[in-house]
Amino acid sequence: MNYSFRKKNKIVKYIVIHYTGMKTLKLAYQKLSSKHSNVSIHYLISQNGIIFNLLCPSYKAWHAGKSKWKNNTNINEHSIGIELENKGHEFGYTNYSKKQYYSLKNLIYFLKKNFYITDNNIVFHSDIAPNRKLDPGEKFSIKRIGIRRFYNKRKKNEYSINEMLSLYGFHKSYINKYKNFCIMAVKRSLNYKAINSYQSKKFLNDFYNLLFS
Ligand SMILES: [Zn+2]
Repeated sequence: MNYSFRKKNKIVKYIVIHYTGMKTLKLAYQKLSSKHSNVSIHYLISQNGIIFNLLCPSYKAWHAGKSKWKNNTNINEHSIGIELENKGHEFGYTNYSKKQYYSLKNLIYFLKKNFYITDNNIVFHSDIAPNRKLDPGEKFSIKRIGIRRFYNKRKKNEYSINEMLSLYGFHKSYINKYKNFCIMAVKRSLNYKAINSYQSKKFLNDFYNLLFS
């Protein structure tokens, strides 16, 4: 099992949701708990809804990789990672199961209480590394676990796409360098079926409503 100690002044404030992206649960479990894999995770939830606690959240797991969110870099330092069993885009992306949503909802409730994590700090791997990652992907619905990530109060009629991407939470450097990937990450979180970087009127409207409803 890989882990490191969190830096003393760094508090846990994010939960990062992933999918395993592997053919079987067993393979995922083995990879996540192996010393030789260079990755690790705090929690893994199977399709059957079983929660495996692989690492105590007070230690740092290696799940986010190169990542940025809001003003933070290296999100591992600040986060608890949860993997959902799913073959992923590479091996046959499937819907998440009812039991998985149920277990995830309970686990997140527990973590929010214990670590004082707010709904807007529950993020997807594709948000914090939009240029590299697709998970948990467009089949994952955060509404199913009763989380509202956005509650921006100030409203005005016109926001530029860059302003909206920044309000969503993308790091400035990612908006500059990987704007199209950021747009695709937003489309995943809006559960779009077609994922591309085209800014249709409908998309801009849906994005606005995601941020301000
Ligand atoms: Zn991931």
